[in-house]
Amino acid sequence: MWTMIEIDTRKPVDVIDITARVQEALQEGKTESGICLVYTLHTTAGLAVNEADSALIKDISNLLDRVAPQGAGYHHDRSDGNAHAHLRATLLGNSVVIPVEQNKLILGTWQRILFFEFDGPRQRRIFVKAVPGV
Ligand code: ZN
Repeated sequence: MWTMIEIDTRKPVDVIDITARVQEALQEGKTESGICLVYTLHTTAGLAVNEADSALIKDISNLLDRVAPQGAGYHHDRSDGNAHAHLRATLLGNSVVIPVEQNKLILGTWQRILFFEFDGPRQRRIFVKAVPGV
C-alpha cells in the first residue's frame, strides 16, 4: 500500500505538520505491524520528526538559516538561485521512518511529522508507504 500526499506550501520557508495526513494514508491499508516510510520527492524540502511548537519551529528555521544563509556565494546560485534551499534540505534529510502497530503510527506525546519547505511556495508531493512485517 502506498499513497501520495500533495500539499501546497504558502511561503518561501514553511513548515507543515503532516502527521494527520500520514495517519490517514495508513488507514487505507491494514498494517498490523511494520514501518511507515515517509519520503519527499523534492530536493529543496525536508522531513523531520519533532515537536510542532511554533517557537521551536522558528528556532529550527533560524538554525538552518544560520548554517545555510541565502545568497552566500554558492556555485549553484549561478544557475538556479536556490542553493541555500538545497543545502538546508540536505541537512534535514528527505525521509523519516516511523514504527506502525495496529495500523497506527507509534509517536511520542510531542512527536509530529513535519514537512519543511525551503523554496516555496510550491505544490509538493510526499510518498507514504507502509511496509508490513518489519
Ligand atoms: Zn536548484
